[in-house]
Amino acid sequence: MSGKTVLILGGGVGGIVAANALRQQLKPEYRVIVIDKNIHHAFAPSFLWVMVGARKPKQAATDLRRLLKPGVELVQAEVSRIDAAAQKVEAGGREWAYDYLIVALGAALNPEAVPGLAQAAHTSYTLEGAARLWEAVKRFPKGRVAVVVARLPYKCPAAPYETALLLEAALRNLGSRDRVQLDIYTPELLPMPSAGPEVGSRLKTMLEARGIGFHPNLKLGSVNLETEELLFEDAPKIPYDLLVAVPPHQSPAVVRESGLANETGWIPVDPKTLKTKHQNVYALGDVALISLPGRYKPDVPLTLPKAGVFAHLQAEVIAHNIAAELEGKAADAAFDGYGYCFVELGYGQAAIGAGNFYAVPAPKVDLRPPGRLWHLGKVLFEQYWLASGPARRLWKTLMVLGGKSTGLEVKL
Ligand SMILES: Cc1cc2nc3c(=O)[nH]c(=O)nc-3n(C[C@H](O)[C@H](O)[C@H](O)COP(=O)(O)OP(=O)(O)OC[C@H]3O[C@@H](n4cnc5c(N)ncnc54)[C@H](O)[C@@H]3O)c2cc1C
Repeated sequence: MSGKTVLILGGGVGGIVAANALRQQLKPEYRVIVIDKNIHHAFAPSFLWVMVGARKPKQAATDLRRLLKPGVELVQAEVSRIDAAAQKVEAGGREWAYDYLIVALGAALNPEAVPGLAQAAHTSYTLEGAARLWEAVKRFPKGRVAVVVARLPYKCPAAPYETALLLEAALRNLGSRDRVQLDIYTPELLPMPSAGPEVGSRLKTMLEARGIGFHPNLKLGSVNLETEELLFEDAPKIPYDLLVAVPPHQSPAVVRESGLANETGWIPVDPKTLKTKHQNVYALGDVALISLPGRYKPDVPLTLPKAGVFAHLQAEVIAHNIAAELEGKAADAAFDGYGYCFVELGYGQAAIGAGNFYAVPAPKVDLRPPGRLWHLGKVLFEQYWLASGPARRLWKTLMVLGGKSTGLEVKL
């Protein structure tokens, strides 16, 4: 059997891992093709360090080609149509037929969904946004800094809280902290709700210990650009001087138009295999929808967080199962819902949450006490991710050994 093609849409975290794992496991006659509109790969966890001047933007990004194994074909093009019934995709003005399709197109930001937000807000959620925010923070003399989560769901449940904590530390270093009021506003009831109430309460305590106001259960309706006020539904207006937003997220338009997504816009998948309702079509990472037992709040069901660690581990499961199927072996890998997340706190410290998000009746996640070690773990992970060749293997070995010595299960 020859000439089979695995097509991967999106060369972000999940797409890269899936492509490399498939290339390693498949015979050379099988094609592994990645299509991404952007050949410049930015590592999102580092945006938060760019935001406080701890990284230059160029240190947080690399050429996607450096991260793909030889033999993976990369096409730089925008995917404009997915036709799962006909097993083909349109990108860059031509059609691409596939035998297996992996949709790894991530989540798009849509600040325009909230009137005034795009014009008013800085963000730590893009590389350029993080760099601009650092320029604004350096020049910010005094006043009210508001960090706002505009909508659920959003990428990386820790990131808005890390944003607030890192800004607090940066303002302290700059000497302006005592003249700044720092608050976080969110539709959630507690930080990181998918990690359970205990983790949420501990993070809330950490915020409060640093003088960061936590304001839950608030839905942003609009931003008044003239008066510089946040208008929440059923709540008093909140004035701000510097606004930092996690903008609303949505799935890429091509996904919403593909027939793969449900009414939420995201693609429902089998929680263990990541299979969609279409034969030989998988979706992973941020674009996938996996329901968890429990709720963010009474009217919002809980879903598996959008995080790179999940995209990574799901990609390995999919790659294993496609390779096994093509070799006539048992496709027996399953994603078990395990994940971990470093939470940067500033001052060279981080905490880490790790556990099983598929546990019933509720996710079972443990937040380890903060320390310098977890911060170094996050730096190590960044170096591993952005390196290539032997350096990457070295960083990976250090990560796995570091994990073992701390009792943390590091799956890479
Ligand atoms: C500030 C910040 C900090 C974060 N920190 C962490 C962290 O510490 N730990 C963690 O686990 N996660 C973290 N995340 C989340 C993590 O970055 C994402 O969950 C992860 O990147 C998802 O991987 P993915 O493969 O699903 O999508 P992505 O990595 O977003 O990749 C999607 C790819 O699809 C491409 N694409 C989209 N539409 C098209 C199209 N129409 N045509 C062609 N290409 C297209 C994009 O260019 C992109 O390369 C963070 C995110 C942010 C914003």
